[in-house]
Amino acid sequence: MNTAETKNPRSIAVVGAGIVGAATALALAAEGYAVTVIDRGEVGAGTSSGNAGGIVEGAVTPTATPDVIRSIPAYIFDRNGAAVLRPAYVLQALPWLVRFIAAGRPARVASIAAALHPLVSNAMRAHRTLAGLSNALDFIRTVGWLKVYGSEAGFSKTAFERELMTRHGVDFSILNAGEVADLEPNLNKDAYTRGIFQPQSGFVNYPMGLAQAYFEGSLRRGAQYVQENVQEIRVNDGGISVRTDQTIRRFDSVVVATGAWSKQFARQLGDRVSLDTERGYHLSLGLTGTHLLSRPVGFPERDCVLSPMHDGISVVSGDELAGLDAPPDYRRIRALLPFVNSVLPGTRFQTVQREWMGHRPSTPDSLPVIGRSPRCHRVFYAFGHGHLGLTLSAITGQLIAGMVGGRADPFDLTPYRIDRF
Ligand SMILES: Cc1cc2nc3c(=O)[nH]c(=O)nc-3n(C[C@H](O)[C@H](O)[C@H](O)COP(=O)(O)OP(=O)(O)OC[C@H]3O[C@@H](n4cnc5c(N)ncnc54)[C@H](O)[C@@H]3O)c2cc1C
Repeated sequence: MNTAETKNPRSIAVVGAGIVGAATALALAAEGYAVTVIDRGEVGAGTSSGNAGGIVEGAVTPTATPDVIRSIPAYIFDRNGAAVLRPAYVLQALPWLVRFIAAGRPARVASIAAALHPLVSNAMRAHRTLAGLSNALDFIRTVGWLKVYGSEAGFSKTAFERELMTRHGVDFSILNAGEVADLEPNLNKDAYTRGIFQPQSGFVNYPMGLAQAYFEGSLRRGAQYVQENVQEIRVNDGGISVRTDQTIRRFDSVVVATGAWSKQFARQLGDRVSLDTERGYHLSLGLTGTHLLSRPVGFPERDCVLSPMHDGISVVSGDELAGLDAPPDYRRIRALLPFVNSVLPGTRFQTVQREWMGHRPSTPDSLPVIGRSPRCHRVFYAFGHGHLGLTLSAITGQLIAGMVGGRADPFDLTPYRIDRF
């Protein structure tokens, strides 16, 4: 094994090139750091390639809420539900689940929502800045985030979420059926009676393209890319060594941005974290363009989102606790097809072009890990963004660049520290 020396005193490795790593690399390269991006695969091709594309401003509601916690027994036993806890994984998931349940207590939800607020309310601004630096503004369209409800019972379950949004001044409106139809005329009018609309939210119909644009923006500012599998990150000799399957590289600092695979690196660096993966799925139908839908549309009563992605309408769903290695199980998402055909009749004759599964990097409290390791000032963490990794990637990159540069925090960052676990 040879050793590649990187002597620049401001050298920094960004390990992981999903949307979070790519945004962080761009934010750092824009400030003149000598950035090396290391990923075992193609930039943005992991979890960041298959999401629903929402940059959801005002997403202050964490995944664990009192309602969700009450539904956990149903999730375990409902074979057709969107949320699944695989029996073989129950024991491994238990410590995370215990914390998840604790995070769902009303008082805790209130404090988590308060901690999410400064992140989600700066999400679009941060994306616009990074997209401006990387000729990527066309990737982001401010078309809003729409959820529709087929029944009054379904809508009334949103009272808690609406209360949280109101408390934090989130811009949203409640739509009647006619207003939903004005926004999305091709939806079957029998599919909804009400909607909730967050007009400030953005949509990226090609999330992998956005990650690659951010990454290319970093390359234009001198960043380098290394396609290697990272095996170990260590602090030594006043610097950081990153051992890959090819070599050992040395840097002044490192950012761990390996999404759902970040726990092993935190452990190597002496930090404990509660991180698991909520696996999610999509089916891509053909039908490109926006003639059927103009924006993502969520159907919370069926736990799915329809999104008009660049290569076709996607139905996005699933929240499966089964770990990093278990094979995908497409049965539940396939079972949604009749529902998709009924709510969006234009999809009726389409065949499935692609089945996909991705690994959300999820903390039990729905807050990302953004910050410096308490053990070493050269180690920075940027992972654990769960359901909001696209939304929060740009603000995460900017916050990390601010910390590396020693600037004052723009708001209280203690809720995102790794030593909260
Ligand atoms: C179905 C679904 C729908 C979603 N919808 C939305 C949405 O609408 N809006 C939203 O904001 N979020 C959404 N998300 C969440 C979002 O996609 C994720 O939070 C986000 O992609 C995580 O990005 P990341 O960069 O942290 O991780 P990843 O994209 O997983 O990137 C991690 C990178 O680390 C690399 N890596 C891992 N281990 C190693 C190693 N040992 N050596 C080298 N490289 C390594 C991987 O190759 C990968 O490229 C959705 C997720 C899913 C699954």
